Amino acid sequence: MASADPHGLDIELMMTPHAAIQSTCGAKNLSCLIWRITSINDSDDISNQYISTRCSRCAEVRRAARIDLVLRGYIPNDNIGTVFTVAGQAAVAGHENRHVLVHTLAYNEYLRPIQGTGSYATRCGRIYRPEPGEAQALLSMYLQDLRTRMTAVFVNWDNRAQAIIENEYASADNIPNPTVPNTLLFNGIKKPTKIPGDLPKYLPPDLPDCPRANP
Ligand SMILES: [Zn+2]
Repeated sequence: MASADPHGLDIELMMTPHAAIQSTCGAKNLSCLIWRITSINDSDDISNQYISTRCSRCAEVRRAARIDLVLRGYIPNDNIGTVFTVAGQAAVAGHENRHVLVHTLAYNEYLRPIQGTGSYATRCGRIYRPEPGEAQALLSMYLQDLRTRMTAVFVNWDNRAQAIIENEYASADNIPNPTVPNTLLFNGIKKPTKIPGDLPKYLPPDLPDCPRANP
């Protein structure tokens, strides 16, 4: 399953040999998901903002730099009968899909509104300053500050929510391996996370003050 969302989500869950997971994600037992935010903190960030100067002394944010969230999940396809059962493999895929869903919720709550024509990106309206370029510079600083603060809130909430998903393995359903005595196979998760019911409440956004409309 792969999809590229025009608004910034890029998601792929791959079925792959276990060795590939270990080389990509480290010594994880069952599966893993890696993620990163792109377009943040790179040197083109500010110059990618489209601030229209309607005159030499006023400016407004028309489109802020795009922020993408890239998610890559890895699920082994060669562990059936040695690490998990067929049902266990499906449970692992469900677990990774819940990680993805939580990242998506966090993205929509905190990152989508600060990019493009998002409500937080454009909320300051038109700014005027007598010094040429000053209004534009103030909005550039606003957007930079907005990204810093909201990315922190995103990470804060997302980490808490992902930890709840991760804790699903505390309720692992393991069954005796029929072919290797005294070993177990992972067969499922007894208490999968309910989304959104089991997730933490959203944190409030951390918005910088807008520059005053006039000096
Ligand atoms: Zn996990």
